[in-house]
Amino acid sequence: MRQLIFFKITAYLLIVIFNFSCQQKKQDYSTLKTIDVSVDSILSKMTLEEKVGQMTQVNLTVIAKGPNKWSSSFPMEIDIERAKKAIVEYNIGSVLNTINNTAQTPEDWFSVIKSIQSFAMDSSRLGVPIIYGIDAIHGATYTAGATMFPQQVTTAATWNPKNAFNMAQVCAYETRASSIPWNFSPVLDLGMNPRFPRQFESFGEDPLLVSRFGEEMIKGYQGNGYLINENNVAACMKHFVGYHATVSGKDRTPAYIPDHVLKEYHIAPFKKAIDAGAKSIMINSGLINGVPVHSSYKIMTDILRNELGFEGVILTDWEDINKLCDRDKITENRKQAIKLAINAGVDMSMVPYEYEEFIDNLVALVNEGEVKISRIDDAVSRILRLKIELNLFKSATTNWQNYKEFGSNKFKKLAYKSASEAITLLKNKDNILPIKSKPRILVTGPNANNMRCLNGAWSYSWQGDLTDKFTSEYNTIYEALLNKYDSSNVKFVSGVSYKPGGSFYEMQEDNIQKAVELAKKSDYILLCLGENTYTEKPGDLNDLRLHQLQIKLAQELSKCGKPIILILNLGRPRIITEIEPLMSAVINIYLPGNFGGDALVDVMCGDVNPSGKLPYTYPAFTNSLSTYYYKPSEVQNNSQGAYNYIGEINNLYNFGFGMSYSNFEIRNPKLSSDTISVNDTIFLSLEVANTSNIDGKETIQIYSSDLTALLSPDNKRLRDFQKVFVKSNSSEFLNFEIPMTDLYYVNELNKFTLESGKFEIHVGSSSDNLYTLPLYVK
Ligand code: BGC
Repeated sequence: MRQLIFFKITAYLLIVIFNFSCQQKKQDYSTLKTIDVSVDSILSKMTLEEKVGQMTQVNLTVIAKGPNKWSSSFPMEIDIERAKKAIVEYNIGSVLNTINNTAQTPEDWFSVIKSIQSFAMDSSRLGVPIIYGIDAIHGATYTAGATMFPQQVTTAATWNPKNAFNMAQVCAYETRASSIPWNFSPVLDLGMNPRFPRQFESFGEDPLLVSRFGEEMIKGYQGNGYLINENNVAACMKHFVGYHATVSGKDRTPAYIPDHVLKEYHIAPFKKAIDAGAKSIMINSGLINGVPVHSSYKIMTDILRNELGFEGVILTDWEDINKLCDRDKITENRKQAIKLAINAGVDMSMVPYEYEEFIDNLVALVNEGEVKISRIDDAVSRILRLKIELNLFKSATTNWQNYKEFGSNKFKKLAYKSASEAITLLKNKDNILPIKSKPRILVTGPNANNMRCLNGAWSYSWQGDLTDKFTSEYNTIYEALLNKYDSSNVKFVSGVSYKPGGSFYEMQEDNIQKAVELAKKSDYILLCLGENTYTEKPGDLNDLRLHQLQIKLAQELSKCGKPIILILNLGRPRIITEIEPLMSAVINIYLPGNFGGDALVDVMCGDVNPSGKLPYTYPAFTNSLSTYYYKPSEVQNNSQGAYNYIGEINNLYNFGFGMSYSNFEIRNPKLSSDTISVNDTIFLSLEVANTSNIDGKETIQIYSSDLTALLSPDNKRLRDFQKVFVKSNSSEFLNFEIPMTDLYYVNELNKFTLESGKFEIHVGSSSDNLYTLPLYVK
């Protein structure tokens, strides 16, 4: 009897659970289905011209008053005739910001976007809203008063992905406060090329680091679920794929990447973000293996759609369909270029000027049977779906007045936190830092009193050259020092500076001798060197060494015999090998944003214990550039019978390196077993002891090495990491679980694989300071 009752209760519970899960599924399905029905219903009413219009994105100047191409006057007034023609007559589906724009108040954005939406929703036949897109890449770049976080590479230096989530969440909120629902961010490119002018926009050189931070950005931007609410934005991952791996190191130049390298290193972060639900993607403006990516069926359809299962919108980068003809010379005319790109998988073209030409050509191509209507329907369905998921049909413009937390202290604290966690102490001779007592400090160098350089490009304008107009309330390094120390003891002389109005690499000598005189009367010299702001083509570089005038300033100052603390404020690791031995301390602050000056000074005086680690390899020489995951052939011993045959890796600082004021010890790292099968999971435990009297944070990094593989194996690869706070004179115990599938590499047949044999698991606080544990894989 008892058994029967037990059986009945169990059966009943199972039925309840089953019904509940069906209901859940039904609910989700019905919402998704509602979206499908809406998309189909709008699509069925559209003419070919209206469909092609949706696939068109124009630049704001095209519909604004003033000169069509290079206008920068703002608040931008929408030109009624131009807007009618583009939006009502040509049905364009999207507008993006102009590169010449400067930051506007949320109120101005509201009026501009409201006016754009009124043409689309009130005057066009079907009332399809415009989707406005912008580059808000470390905060709402183009909104005055928004919270500027550190740039992505700086965020990665925190080794704390929560900072990426915070940045994206705040940025989404403040972008919506500017009435804009679509953000061309995050950058998921592998920043493995220190010469490339956009390395600072990436999360650094390591695929795992980029994946972890990228995933958090998607969550922070989009929120949970597939519908996006009014505090979130649709993310646009970019630039798919292999964008930084150019041979010359210059923007939009050819890269040569074998398929298996593309898959294992460059595609991996995009895959993670796609799995996290990223809504859209922008294509790499360059060429891979001679093929411009915008013409590649293989990359956009075979890989992105079919292999990775990406369902969102594929957007071109700036003018890139035209470039197939105009720049890359793979078609005779622009019409053929359009055919190639749309058939390869592009859904929306960032035209961004001659939209009539694009629309007329694409309509003609469909009528001539060169592009199938099914391809157009596919593209337009994805665009309409995105607009529905963003609820633009019901609420096309968000109103700044509803965003009370815009620019709030709460947001500022998050930006400060990220900046302070990123600061990376690279050298600290005789524990010169933190600075004790109240010394006399000379602060000098072109980056010492410069908000523009703290923020980098994509700050208040494209190249970041207008920053000073917007940042009077924030502190440069010099100003932050004045706030912290007795102002009569802090002196500033620039020594050298960036040439006003010049290109980012032009410098001028101001007063090196004066700096030297003051240095003699000081206890410390705070030498702030680095780069001026740049991005994209204008940021191409011919010499990775730091500018000669900066080197001269450092050398002259070093003759005074006073300790120099070198602050590096740069977007990529410029070579400093000549002057590094002259420095007592070296701190990399990267591009830390508006709170970088305050955060740095807090680290220098010891209020904050540094915990940043390099997200890239810091090279020692211009011709010796390599990531930490180099192949064994980079390091060679003397060959028999030969001399001078040694190959070496000679970095200035290694990937993952960064010091603390605390002393940490890793104790007792242990694998649960030293033999494992290819489908198993590695369990690793260890103790992190803080043996100093200062509380601090340490990042424990786990690497693996495959000792023999059919494709020459990487020196080592990061497999996991944890940043942990450890109180003074105490310990924390950490556990790591790493599925063996994470150790698979992609072979020449483009398949993930792993051969049995000897491996090593390395545990440490950087990529070169490691405990090694042997592991046999059966
Ligand atoms: C850049 C993209 C950016 C786009 C729109 C292009 O030049 O490569 O990263 O999103 O412009 O501003």
